[in-house]
Amino acid sequence: MTDRYVVIGNPVGHSKSPWIHAQFARATGQDIDYGRLEAPLDGFDAAVDAFRASGGRGANVTLPFKQAAFRYCAELSPRARAAEAVNTLVLDRAAVFGDNTDGVGLVRDLQANLGCGLEGRRVLLLGAGGAAQGVVQPLLESGVALLVVVNRTAARARALAARFPGVQGGGYELLDSGSYDLVVNATAAGLSGALPTIPPRVFARDALAYDMVYGRETPFLAFAREHGVQVSDGAGMLVEQAAESFLIWRGVRPRTDAVLDALRHG
Ligand code: NAP
Repeated sequence: MTDRYVVIGNPVGHSKSPWIHAQFARATGQDIDYGRLEAPLDGFDAAVDAFRASGGRGANVTLPFKQAAFRYCAELSPRARAAEAVNTLVLDRAAVFGDNTDGVGLVRDLQANLGCGLEGRRVLLLGAGGAAQGVVQPLLESGVALLVVVNRTAARARALAARFPGVQGGGYELLDSGSYDLVVNATAAGLSGALPTIPPRVFARDALAYDMVYGRETPFLAFAREHGVQVSDGAGMLVEQAAESFLIWRGVRPRTDAVLDALRHG
C-alpha cells in the first residue's frame, strides 16, 4: 500500500514540498503519496490526530505551526529539543516523534551548494520565529565566530539568544554598529513584500545575503543586490531540509542536485 505523508501549514497551497518529495520518491523507488493539509489556525492538533488516525505515516510542518508541533510530540530529537520547534513528524510509531531538519538544510545549502564556509564567520540572523529557532544550534555547531539574532519583537530575539551561550539578541537597533559575513533573513517579511529595517552597512565586504523565502525576488534580496552583495534565496534550504526528512521517514537519502536545479530552472 502507498504510504501517505503531508505538509501541514496555513496557508499551504504555495508549498513546493509535494513536488520535491515526488521527485525524491521517483529517484529512490519509494512508494509514497505526499499531499498538502491546511489546518485551521486553532486546529493543528486535531488535524494531525485525524491524519494519523487515517494511517498517515509522517508530516512536514510549516508556518505557523512549528512550535505547536514541538508541543504535540511525545518524543523529540536533540536538534528539535534545542530548536523548540519541529518541522518533521514521524507518526507511524507508538509515540509521535518530532525532529527539525531546517538547520541542517540551511547549513548544507550554504556549505555544499553555495560554497559558503561558516567557520569563523560573523553571522546575523533576522527573525525569531520557527525557522530562526531551527537554525541557531546548527549554525553554532558549524563554527561561526559570532551569531546575532534580531527581531521586530525584540523580546523574542532576546529569549531565543538567551538559550544559547554567546549568542546576542535584541531589536533592530542592535544593528547600529557592526557588519556581518552572512546575513540570513528568517523573517516572513518577504511574503508580504516588506523589508526588515537593516542598514546597508550590516553587509561586510564579500558578504552573502540569504533569504529563506524562495522562488521570488524579495525586497531583502533586492536591497542586498542594490548594495553589491551576493544573494541567494531559500530554494536550496528547502530541498536540503526535505532530503533530511525523507531520510528520517524512508531510511534512504535522496540526491538533491537535480531536484534543486529543476526547482530553480524547471
Ligand atoms: P513564523 O514562526 O511565523 O515567524 C515569522 C517571523 O518573521 C517572526 O520573527 C516575525 O517577527 C517576522 N516578521 C514577519 N513579518 C515581518 C516584517 N514585516 N518585518 C520584520 N519581521 C517580520 O514563521 P517561520 O516558520 O519562522 O518562517 C519564516 C520564513 O521562513 C517564512 O517566509 C518561511 O516561508 C521561510 N522558511 C523557509 C524555509 C526553507 O526551507 N527555505 C524553511 C523554513 C521557513 P515578529 O516576531 O515580530 O512577529
